Amino acid sequence: MLILSGKPVFGGIARGKLFYFQQDENEVTKRLIKNTERELKIYEDAREYALAELDELYTTALEKVGENEASIFIIHKMLIEDSAFYKSVYDRITEDHFCADYAVAQTSRDLSEAFSNMGSTYIKERAADLKDVCDRLIRHIQNKNEKRIELKEKVILCADELMPSETMQMDLSKVLAIVTRYGSSNSHTAILARTMNIPAIIGIGAEKLSMLRDMEAIVDGFNGNLYIDPDENALKQIAALEENEAKKREMLKRFKGRKNITLDGTEIQVFANIAGLNDLNYALENDAGGIGLFRSEFLYLGRTHMPDEDEQYFNYRQVLERMNGKKVIIRTMDAGADKNIKSFGLAKEENPALGVRSIRLCLMRPEMFKTQLRALLRASVYGNLAIMLPLITSMEEIHRAKRLIEEAKDQLRAKGQAFSENIEIGIMVETPAAVIMSEEFAKEVDFFSIGTNDLEQYIMALDRQNLTLENYYEKKDHEPLLRAMRLTCDNAHKNGIPVGICGELGADLELTEKFLQMGIDEISVTPSQVLPLRQKIRTVKIEQRKQLFDPAAVKS
Ligand code: PEP
Ligand code: MG
Repeated sequence: MLILSGKPVFGGIARGKLFYFQQDENEVTKRLIKNTERELKIYEDAREYALAELDELYTTALEKVGENEASIFIIHKMLIEDSAFYKSVYDRITEDHFCADYAVAQTSRDLSEAFSNMGSTYIKERAADLKDVCDRLIRHIQNKNEKRIELKEKVILCADELMPSETMQMDLSKVLAIVTRYGSSNSHTAILARTMNIPAIIGIGAEKLSMLRDMEAIVDGFNGNLYIDPDENALKQIAALEENEAKKREMLKRFKGRKNITLDGTEIQVFANIAGLNDLNYALENDAGGIGLFRSEFLYLGRTHMPDEDEQYFNYRQVLERMNGKKVIIRTMDAGADKNIKSFGLAKEENPALGVRSIRLCLMRPEMFKTQLRALLRASVYGNLAIMLPLITSMEEIHRAKRLIEEAKDQLRAKGQAFSENIEIGIMVETPAAVIMSEEFAKEVDFFSIGTNDLEQYIMALDRQNLTLENYYEKKDHEPLLRAMRLTCDNAHKNGIPVGICGELGADLELTEKFLQMGIDEISVTPSQVLPLRQKIRTVKIEQRKQLFDPAAVKS
């Protein structure tokens, strides 16, 4: 038996075979082309992309695993930049008239053959690197999304790291658990695992994770342990843990159908976060009082084409219908940063978390944004919809987004399509700018929802994707963050609007009392956290808050 330990992301036990996910074998067809200049340009662009990607990989690896392991990406860059490599691709395009991907594939084949025939083990190993580099180039030439993960049976999915787009491409019903070598607990793949009730461990660190494919294993997502080929003793331990957890779950069922009332009589809303229709089942199973965050961008992730207005409309409509009049807060598309949507063709950025993402991207592409807005508006007649704008940093963004909502309404009116006239428009408070301007913003919108994942990242200057910083994230009650949240609550309440939390911190039961005392009105968590939070709220006193704030007094 071998035990590997990492950071638990979502509790649960899973037993099964390990499946190791690796990047695709590219399919390349021989095509003869006439326009060699155009083909060379295609190659040059792909080369630029690949080099930028390798720079990024090097920086990340340097931080996470050190110089030794990171240096592999420098070797990969050297291979691409090598003049003999370039000449080989160049000649095949200009002389043989091969298409760019075939020219690279041929170069790869010839050079690897030459490498393999050499005696040195070092050079033989470089043949594998050459293949890796050529695959990367071909992927960029073919403008391909990452590999679709095809799962034939239920497995424990292992990977070095998983991107949200990759996670979204697989059949999640076949994923018993997720184990990654890297990753961070606030990354969107981790959030997705939690939302989907998938036991998950990140940062398992094992270099040889890929060697363990097909072995029988048990994932203990509560404690972050992966048991490979477990012995009798481990099996007994796991069985006891499972029994214990099942009892806890059974006990939590008592809280279904009950209100979330504090010891001193204040009702708090407990909602669920979802990323799509699948998770809606979990939200309903756990009796969520509403949807506090529907991450709508997950409809776009991992696809080659954007969902059109009708597809979006049917998705939103289903959520609204199934929530049966309960509030559903749908966040407009929050793409960019780690949620890279290939079909958008976004340029590589030095600092994607500070770059073209979220509302900025939507405002840069108003037609795309209005397609989503029309879909939302049309769906609004089927339930209690609220629209939430992410990553707001200025009043201008709020005004521009609202103008686009009005334009979308005009377009629907012109076509005689119905929509509700009472849709609340709120914003996420997830940037320091939004906190500082919260007094003014509160006069412009109907509600706030604090996105603690990004707010913590920006206030504490902590990259949420960076596993090396996990120990900073371990400390949950960063005073600057709590003060920012308190200020947001005060400014919202002064202006008579409610405040929720939709970031992961909302599920931290050790902070529930603090949150409620600062005035949080609603907390939205992953579906599995709804009942534990409901139980917790019933044990909390928030008298202090009553002295600080009385919403009835403000509104009257
Ligand atoms: C947040 O930033 O807290 C949030 C809820 O949004 P996301 O995690 O999708 O960025
Ligand atoms: Mg966010």
